[in-house]
Amino acid sequence: MLSLYGWIWIIPIVERLVPLKPQAFVRAGIINDLIHTYHRFHLHSMINAAFVAWLVTYAQQHGGQGLYLQGSLANAHWVWSFIALLFMGHITFYVAHYYSHKIPLLWQFHRVHHSSLTLDSFSTSRFHVIDKALFAAPYLMLVTYFQPDPALVFLYISFRDFWGRYGHGNIKDAHWLGYILSNPKFHRWHHSNHPEAIDKNFSGEFNFMDYMFGTAYYPKDRIPDHFGEANYSNNIIVQHYRPFVDIYKIAKKDGVMALLRKQKSTSSENYQAVSE
Ligand SMILES: [Zn+2]
Ligand SMILES: [Zn+2]
Repeated sequence: MLSLYGWIWIIPIVERLVPLKPQAFVRAGIINDLIHTYHRFHLHSMINAAFVAWLVTYAQQHGGQGLYLQGSLANAHWVWSFIALLFMGHITFYVAHYYSHKIPLLWQFHRVHHSSLTLDSFSTSRFHVIDKALFAAPYLMLVTYFQPDPALVFLYISFRDFWGRYGHGNIKDAHWLGYILSNPKFHRWHHSNHPEAIDKNFSGEFNFMDYMFGTAYYPKDRIPDHFGEANYSNNIIVQHYRPFVDIYKIAKKDGVMALLRKQKSTSSENYQAVSE
């Protein structure tokens, strides 16, 4: 309830108060992104948070503890569990996100999220359900393995959504925050079509892995201004079947292996030139 009626509408108010750049609330694709937001809350966030919490409870109660640290967080202090949740969240998000850009098959699903021409907090929810599931799966496996407090897992998954909304928001905040967090300015570069920022800034919450692996791009004096794909659909139904059509077309034209290995020509088709 807090998600549906609270922070979904708190971030847009903050966007009006401290915008990164002037931007209207009503923009191309806003209806589509509102449908994504509410469908995602019902289908993804609530069910996902409850399902993962139930899985962890089940693992804890059915002797899911053993060698190799399995179940090691079952009786840990909540502070350690919370720190572990943050780390597991950051690492799994970075890895899943990295491969969703590098493997063309996965990119066709993730491409939906990158199709927004305008970025604001409602762009956060524009995701293909398969993409969302691929991002969630490694995290689900880790929390089920280490088994932190299920209540904490439930709260954390809800909290991540708030963070995502802030990260996509048209919000002006301190530049130094982008050295620690995936703040709006940092994540905007990830969505941009600027060649120097392609395949950069994969982080979701903290961003130390981007700095560790050399995938961070965060200039002090500029913000990006070209995002998305003008010819991609703003219809949630099309966005859910088009990846399958595009996958079929790629396989037919270049063979199945083209779906597994990124080709230079394919990536330049996916990203629009900055001048457009
Ligand atoms: Zn991405
Ligand atoms: Zn994003």
